[in-house]
Amino acid sequence: MDLVCHSCESRFTSTNRKRCACGEPLWFDIDSTQFDWTDLPRTSGVWRYADVLPADPAEDVTAGAGGTPLIRAERLDEYAGCRLYVKDEGQNPTGSFKDRGSSVGVTYADDAGRDWVGTVSHGNMAMSMAAVATSKGVNCAVLVPVRIPETRLGLIAQYDPEILTVTGDYGQLYYDTLDADGGIEFVNSDTPLRVAGQKTVAYEILESFAPETPDAIVLPVSSGGHASAVWKALRELRDATLIEKLPRIHLVQTAAVDPIAQAFRTGADSVEFIDPSDTVAFSISNGSPPSGNRALRAARETNGTVTSVSEEAIKEATRRLASNAGVCAEPASAVTLAGLNKLSQAGEITPNDEIVAIVTGTGFKESEIDIDVSTTDISLANLKKSLEEIAV
Ligand SMILES: *Cc1c(COP(=O)(O)O)cnc(C)c1O
Ligand SMILES: [Zn+2]
Repeated sequence: MDLVCHSCESRFTSTNRKRCACGEPLWFDIDSTQFDWTDLPRTSGVWRYADVLPADPAEDVTAGAGGTPLIRAERLDEYAGCRLYVKDEGQNPTGSFKDRGSSVGVTYADDAGRDWVGTVSHGNMAMSMAAVATSKGVNCAVLVPVRIPETRLGLIAQYDPEILTVTGDYGQLYYDTLDADGGIEFVNSDTPLRVAGQKTVAYEILESFAPETPDAIVLPVSSGGHASAVWKALRELRDATLIEKLPRIHLVQTAAVDPIAQAFRTGADSVEFIDPSDTVAFSISNGSPPSGNRALRAARETNGTVTSVSEEAIKEATRRLASNAGVCAEPASAVTLAGLNKLSQAGEITPNDEIVAIVTGTGFKESEIDIDVSTTDISLANLKKSLEEIAV
């Protein structure tokens, strides 16, 4: 399978290459014209779409990636300003959509005889890569910055990867690992294998709606890898003539780190890198997004938007997802709901629109939940009476 540049359309036959000579990221050139919903294997999860993936199905933990539920979150319709569906990616094996990309990436590397995979991450992607790699008996190098919270290090370390703490510019490390991959297959945030695996979320969403098509898909954006993947899937499904019009792609960032939203607002052709500020949405705090330009195109060319939301709005949306939909989301994922609330107020979306919010990661990893808890005291002696009073 060839790799191709989304921007200048240059083609490359070496799958070791991850970026184009023009600087933009590459993705796999997949012929999806023969793809159809009717002859898919019975399995759910990423391997259901093996026909459009660069790796062959496996029966190990990678089979647990994907196949996540799409739930109708009616009680959030008013706040979201649309008919809201939630794609709960928190139900992946390590709690985020990253498992889709890690599964395809590590399987590909393993089949190609690589003994090592690697990633530049101190969050969900690191956990995901380490978990998938160890399940397949492949070594995994996780490159983390020197300062990293102990709790998160523990979440990664339980899967027993080689953890390398790196001094130097962490943003630059992303690019340098892609060039220096000697024996290690680096599956970073927007590399072709990761994008290929992560596009399966959009295949699942569109299959759930077929033969209809949702009006829009909303997701958080950081490096731009996930947004690129969703866009790629929609383009492939259009090539397969399974959809006519692409759903709008709405991307949401935290206002604390919103380089892509800034470019969208100002009408700029490309994304300018910025210094990130602190945010509760730490999984989306990339100020130098390697696929920023590609994500910007995904939003623009589908008639979508890139907006940013405040820290307060993110916290409120996180609470509402739990209290109204029963979904425990990471704040980085809750930006989707906050973004919809903002887009509906701006008249960008309307109440009859069917919109899917991708909740990218579970909130179960959070060590503290930021809410005021209220309780009611009752005594065992008065139990019956108390319960009757409560359930009137
Ligand atoms: C990685 C991640 C994102 C951002 O995805 P990108 O591909 O970097 O844009 C969003 N939410 C969660 C929970 C993540 O782990
Ligand atoms: Zn190019």
